[in-house]
Amino acid sequence: MSARAPRVIIAGAGTGGLCLAHGLRRAGIEVVVLERDRHRTGGLQGYRVGISPNGARALRACLPPQLYALFEASTGDAYDGMLMCTERYRELLALPYAELPGGGDDEHNVSRATLHQVLLRGLTDVVHFGRTVTGYAENQDGTVTVHADGGADVTGDLLVGADGANSRVRPRLLPGAGHTSTGLVGIGGRAPLDMRTLELLPGGPSSGITLLFDRHGGVGITHVMRMRWDDEHVPRTGIEPRHAAALASPLGRELLAADTTTDFVSWGLTVPAHWFPDGPPSRDDTPGVFADVGRLTSGWDPRWQELVHRSAPESAVVIDIRTSDPLPDWTPGPVTLLGDAAHTMTPGRGAGANTALRDARELRDRLVRVRDGELDLRTAVGEYEALMRRYSAVAVRESLEFLNDDVARRSPAAQAVATTVQRTGMRLVNHVPALRRRIARGMQRVRDSEFV
Ligand SMILES: Cc1cc2nc3c(=O)[nH]c(=O)nc-3n(C[C@H](O)[C@H](O)[C@H](O)COP(=O)(O)OP(=O)(O)OC[C@H]3O[C@@H](n4cnc5c(N)ncnc54)[C@H](O)[C@@H]3O)c2cc1C
Repeated sequence: MSARAPRVIIAGAGTGGLCLAHGLRRAGIEVVVLERDRHRTGGLQGYRVGISPNGARALRACLPPQLYALFEASTGDAYDGMLMCTERYRELLALPYAELPGGGDDEHNVSRATLHQVLLRGLTDVVHFGRTVTGYAENQDGTVTVHADGGADVTGDLLVGADGANSRVRPRLLPGAGHTSTGLVGIGGRAPLDMRTLELLPGGPSSGITLLFDRHGGVGITHVMRMRWDDEHVPRTGIEPRHAAALASPLGRELLAADTTTDFVSWGLTVPAHWFPDGPPSRDDTPGVFADVGRLTSGWDPRWQELVHRSAPESAVVIDIRTSDPLPDWTPGPVTLLGDAAHTMTPGRGAGANTALRDARELRDRLVRVRDGELDLRTAVGEYEALMRRYSAVAVRESLEFLNDDVARRSPAAQAVATTVQRTGMRLVNHVPALRRRIARGMQRVRDSEFV
């Protein structure tokens, strides 16, 4: 087979699309990214994303080494563990990360906005902003022509739909593959990290990640993000020399000038949609969003209420939590999918970005073999799609199970029983180290293992 590197067009400069773009560029494969947002910071909320060992492996494989070093330097302090408690801040289960396989070493806490700023470094000539992909046509010669607002059509050998949960590419490629609403709504916000905010967290000043289980079935979450730079964006003294060097490099200085992220606490609340008599709030009505959270959590510890009130109005996020329907098999062609565009999942396992990153690595590896003449393009795409369908199905299913969407359909009496069972179970596990380790391993499985 003669070697010929394909020309790849990526729809969407998000987590997965940018990781793939780096991987292809490093491999000398021509790539163009078409992004809907008009500029580098468009549409980015600065919530925390947990990058698992799976996700970190993909980033290490795709990013140039100095950019991977900058990724590591741009992550927040690692967490010592996870605390689960009641809405009144009473401990149910504490999982020290030392009990997790790998000791949590390869877990990275990132601000989504910062991660995107890192991933955009070195791709200025590849990413085209203000270009919304609207459709595509497959050509007789096997190529694909992509239609996008804001400029001319673009033709290549492969279109990768990495355009997120509301993909324009997926419905054209797989008309039958939809999403189902879980009946749950997620609301989130961010408060600046200071001494007072730390006192408001369930774990107090040593908090990392906390889950709060409300007796009526709502679930809260808090994350602390301590960056390796201060509020003036100056690297802190005392950080590891390798991180200091990465932040002092030209790429690091560029990042610190472009990214606005400083230390923060992010929180989220997941509740059944029917708890909003007039329907879930609009993200644009920020006072309404935070007022709704205050009302829905009026019985919670007053420190939670204060945390919500200290949050910046512009940080409000409202999400209708959806999950992909199982993907059908399809015949590989010049168009494929990656990340949320292929497999939207609930935030239950923190696996969405990590699965998108793994997709990027798996697809990149196979396109390198096309470049080297070992595989033809259709075979490479087909192999990637078969593998991606398998592992993403597990991630979608387990993310849904962990979210416990039954709560959206339970009667108050059934919920009372479920709460008692849940709390008793967690308290029991909390006293048995072997059970705690088992739970910790189960929680990591989707995010860490290679499955297949
Ligand atoms: C609050 C919250 C917390 C989360 N926490 C975690 C976590 O801890 N761990 C984890 O693994 N995942 C987490 N996720 C999920 C994760 O953010 C997503 O799964 C991940 O970003 C998906 O990456 P992607 O590349 O597929 O899509 P995205 O990152 O959403 O990127 C899609 C890109 O496509 C662009 N686009 C959209 N339409 C078009 C178009 N028509 N033409 C061109 N461009 C287009 C968008 O502007 C965007 O830039 C979280 C999500 C939320 C909302």
